[in-house]
Amino acid sequence: SGEQVSFGIDDLPVRDELRGKSPYGAPQLDVPVRLNTNENPYPLPGPLVERIAERVREAARDLNRYPDRDAVELRTELAKYLTRTGGYPIGTENVWAANGSNEVIQQLLQAFGGPGRTAIGFEPSYSMHALIARGTGTGWIPGPRNEDFTIDPAAGERAIATHRPDVVFITTPNNPTGNTVPAATVIALYEAAQRAKPSMVVVDEAYVEFSHGDSLLPLLADRPHLVVSRTMSKAFGAAGLRLGYLAAHPAVVDAVQLVRLPYHLSAITQATALAALEHTDTLLGYVEQLKAERDRLVTELRAMGYEVTESDANFVQFGRFRNAQDAWRRILDRGVLVRDNGVPGRLRVSAGTPQENDAFLDAVRDLKKELE
Ligand code: PMP
Repeated sequence: SGEQVSFGIDDLPVRDELRGKSPYGAPQLDVPVRLNTNENPYPLPGPLVERIAERVREAARDLNRYPDRDAVELRTELAKYLTRTGGYPIGTENVWAANGSNEVIQQLLQAFGGPGRTAIGFEPSYSMHALIARGTGTGWIPGPRNEDFTIDPAAGERAIATHRPDVVFITTPNNPTGNTVPAATVIALYEAAQRAKPSMVVVDEAYVEFSHGDSLLPLLADRPHLVVSRTMSKAFGAAGLRLGYLAAHPAVVDAVQLVRLPYHLSAITQATALAALEHTDTLLGYVEQLKAERDRLVTELRAMGYEVTESDANFVQFGRFRNAQDAWRRILDRGVLVRDNGVPGRLRVSAGTPQENDAFLDAVRDLKKELE
């Protein structure tokens, strides 16, 4: 009815900080080549699909019971994976898991942010850090980045000293720009955060498996205010699973347990994640292919004359366009969906299969001629 049409969010008593805001909204369009959400383009291998079915079948029998509230078996396997690949010993007590790293971040902000508190992130960066902050009543402070999207440690330290945030986000490799934050910068910002408050420092390593360099997990030694967050959505090719996790001092794991919902991680999720972890080596094999494709995208885009930000992730930021929105639309008209993250003059493309990347490169080669 007309009444339903004219009645909207703003007619409801929603919280003031949510008024006039938009939800997270990467378009989910049905086009031939989808390179817009940094997913892994490879479907799960057959034997893993079988193993998931087996473990889920076992779990299904016990669905009359609540799942393991503390996900101990899963956290143990995640700890082994981190120890094996991260160059630093991680135990079950150092790991916490939730429904995607988005939920990990939400739980961290519920525990360490909240009304009357603030968080800072160095923008442009992952937009959900600010959105989840808002959703948890945490004030948001946009921190500075250089023109080339690197973080100037001195400027970052000054922002932390001035605003004294309760939570500091450092995304490395950064989304949407793709570049890594050097360990020395992370250490400098951590130390500034300890002098200022002390506050929690969350290193978001969602894309670290695609990096040319190493994880920052070894920095956890003697830094109880540091948290490293990870996900199975990218390197493990399991975005649909919704499994994120963190590594930190056991006290941090105790703190997030104060805010997590009881039984937040379903038995089906735990069983599926455990099956995927049994196939880690196969899944990480795809990572090597994707890194090679990522490097090819960088090289070919530069050869066409595009300006490309150095990438350690499974995506590449490229430009410059006079109007990024218009360029996004023209690429979409050629059947390729990329991402406009709102960074002026730039777009982001996720590394797909070689065929998908070829389709993308053909589209932007044509576009370059059109724009000249
Ligand atoms: N952190 C970063 C930097 C991301 O880019 C993403 C996904 N786009 C996430 C966290 C969240 O991923 P998920 O909730 O699927 O683990």
